[in-house]
Amino acid sequence: MTEHVVIIGSGPAAWAAAIYAARANLKPLVFEGAETEENRIAGTLPLGQLNLTTEVENYPGFPAGLLHGYIRSAVVENRVSTYLEPLHEHRHAVTGPELMNLMRQQAENFGTRIITDDVVELTLKKPPYQLKTLGGQNFETHTIIIATGARANYLGLESEERFKNRGVSACAVCDGALPRFRNKPLVVVGGGDSAVEEATYLTKYASTVHMLMRRDAFRASKIMQERARTNPKINIHYFREVDEVLGDDKGGVTGIRAKNNREGGTEDFPASGLFLAIGHTPNTDFLKGQVALNDKGYIKYTTLMRTYTSVPGVFAAGDVADDYYRQAVTSAGTGCMAALDAERYLAAMGL
Ligand code: FAD
Repeated sequence: MTEHVVIIGSGPAAWAAAIYAARANLKPLVFEGAETEENRIAGTLPLGQLNLTTEVENYPGFPAGLLHGYIRSAVVENRVSTYLEPLHEHRHAVTGPELMNLMRQQAENFGTRIITDDVVELTLKKPPYQLKTLGGQNFETHTIIIATGARANYLGLESEERFKNRGVSACAVCDGALPRFRNKPLVVVGGGDSAVEEATYLTKYASTVHMLMRRDAFRASKIMQERARTNPKINIHYFREVDEVLGDDKGGVTGIRAKNNREGGTEDFPASGLFLAIGHTPNTDFLKGQVALNDKGYIKYTTLMRTYTSVPGVFAAGDVADDYYRQAVTSAGTGCMAALDAERYLAAMGL
């Protein structure tokens, strides 16, 4: 059987595309990613980046309120108990996991089929296109919407790799509340908005948060800089680069050795955790040169205001093709565009 539309990904772009394609009777098939340990560590589990955050205050249509009743009534029972407990019973803005489960459910309600697996290989030489999953299944499709998003960057140190999951994390919201970090000093690397967001979040649990920056300036917006500077639990250290993550096999991370790149020498920061907030990498490795990418590895759109890629019938949506806006609402917007582009392509091909 040849699919009409395959959607790869599970963030706002993928679900928006699925809702539109399903409502156009195209019976989309979504590969939402695999629930593997590797994906957990990389931050690419099903439901995408928003699933890693707490409240989302800027997604239109979700003013703060008593959302738990609505979510319980809208999302199938087994996902509420598996993915959404505890639902907050107080007034709150929609959380990332709530929003993503609502989107997934909306797509499923219109007949979207979902496979919980990674696509690891594409053959795009000529249509219909071939796909292979991590689980070893093969599929054929007339069109593909790539909505695989992006993932957090790491420093690439051997010691960082050694302590991943034992004190080294790229997601404060996912890991910050773990007992190992509570009332302990922590280190955050980075100087952008997300670094300040992570550091601020961690102050809820940590005794102190040290922010290390390579230069003597934040990249964060003024309002976020102010937030960091006025938080009594955040200490800002300029001209510092992580040299080594210190620790032992039993307890994991015990400190961070940082180089002073202006004055020379190193300094040890006792810490039970290192949180990286140094940007993202698009999830495009599996494309293996078959779709044109830009110099940062993001998919290139070939036509202004369209989601066309370098391969006819293959469209891109969300952060995988956007290193500039990187928002849930822009991802959902391009997801909608990609579904409409796929629908029109299929109609033009008489499929
Ligand atoms: P993503 O959310 O990146 O999801 C893509 C998913 O596709 C991956 O996670 C993975 O599960 C799946 N996938 C990847 N590769 C494959 C493959 N080969 N096969 C199958 N599946 C695959 N934005 C806002 O607008 N408001 C916020 O408040 C906000 N807060 C944020 C907080 C945090 C901590 C983070 C990290 C991001 C936040 N963002 C926020 C940004 C927002 O999450 C992203 O812009 C948005 O999620 C991008 O959506 P996407 O659909 O492109 O894909």
